[in-house]
Amino acid sequence: MNEKPLPFDERSIREIAAKYPTPFYIYNESAIRASARRLTSAFAWCAFKEYFAVKATPNPHLLKILKQENLGGDCSSLAELTLCGHVGITGENIMFTSNETQAKEYLRARELGAIINLDDITHIPYLEKHAGLPEVICLRYNPGPLREGNVIIGKPEEAKYGFTREQLVEGYRQLKAKGVRRFGLHTMVASNELNPDFFVETAKMLFELAVELARDPGVRIEFVNLGGGIGIPYRPGEKAVDLDFVGSHIEQAYQEIVVPAGLHPLKIFMENGRCITGPYGYLVTEAIHHKNTYKQYIGVDACMSNLMRPGMYGAYHHITVLGKEDAPLDHTYDVVGSLCENNDKFAIDRQLPAIEASDLLVIHDAGAHGYAMGFQYNGKLRSAELLLREDGSVKQIRRAETLDDYFATLDFSEL
Ligand SMILES: *Cc1c(COP(=O)(O)O)cnc(C)c1O
Repeated sequence: MNEKPLPFDERSIREIAAKYPTPFYIYNESAIRASARRLTSAFAWCAFKEYFAVKATPNPHLLKILKQENLGGDCSSLAELTLCGHVGITGENIMFTSNETQAKEYLRARELGAIINLDDITHIPYLEKHAGLPEVICLRYNPGPLREGNVIIGKPEEAKYGFTREQLVEGYRQLKAKGVRRFGLHTMVASNELNPDFFVETAKMLFELAVELARDPGVRIEFVNLGGGIGIPYRPGEKAVDLDFVGSHIEQAYQEIVVPAGLHPLKIFMENGRCITGPYGYLVTEAIHHKNTYKQYIGVDACMSNLMRPGMYGAYHHITVLGKEDAPLDHTYDVVGSLCENNDKFAIDRQLPAIEASDLLVIHDAGAHGYAMGFQYNGKLRSAELLLREDGSVKQIRRAETLDDYFATLDFSEL
């Protein structure tokens, strides 16, 4: 019945919940390690590196695990750079893909020796003025109407990111004249994309562009960064992206485009977040109320401030009621949180087994862009994050917030 298997059962989660009250996030270490390895091994044929998008799951304990799997970190802010620094992800193991960047962020990226990926041509003089130009620079390409985006990221020509084709030529020309010696080329045109061909097309586009840029303005691209955006099967029945298919088809394109142009060796980078940790993190919450009005509502102790993807994107997150994995799905519920916002719903008209108070619900695929997007509206506090380790033990990797945390920026004595 349960099409999305869990790495724990009701008994183990009740034991955990006795120590760490719900709601909490729990991540599966062995599955995260395995997913990092799957991506890396799909590109074993080339010089490949995955820079984990820190914004997806910004917890240093998870970053440390990913560092052990030889992943780098993709950062876009001062806090994300600082997190990488704390776990020893430094130098060219950091890709700094930011936009509307502040001088202090460029300075920190330079201190850490990160690869800086510029979002706009005006950032060349801005970076030079505030932090100096490094030896290696990457430019972010926005193909505009040449490529279709998808629902989450939108159409490329309406996206605020990246250089146009003409600006790219001019940008590399300027950088070369200013003494920059090593160059990368980046794009990110999809988010949560399940079609493997999309990533092959992106690689081809960047390979061809690298060949053209070798002619005009005559720069040798050292690496292409295909961005992140590999999707995950949120809905039962959806298929995970076949990474080996993506890797082998990109290899074919490499042989056809890169090698004959004399650009081998060209390194290939990616900066996925979602596909590395997304399916391996869960939000666990307790049913506390059952309300019967024009619809049937199950009120839970988590809310949209713990996981806002359903409210923000209408995203589907599968729900399992622990201990009722094999029960018939013969009830229709809205599963809702306590915010004074009617989009605070984890599920709408979902077929689930009969739910009673104190049942534990597992919200699946919350391991990326889950906790990270949390907020404190309505005075809701962020939950704890737990790690299910490879030996089966559980470690708290972030404590739950307290009211003192919530009030920490106020000075009541000045009232
Ligand atoms: C968000 C983002 C990523 C990661 O996206 P996922 O969907 O988590 O793979 C990578 N690169 C950039 C520039 C991003 O904005």
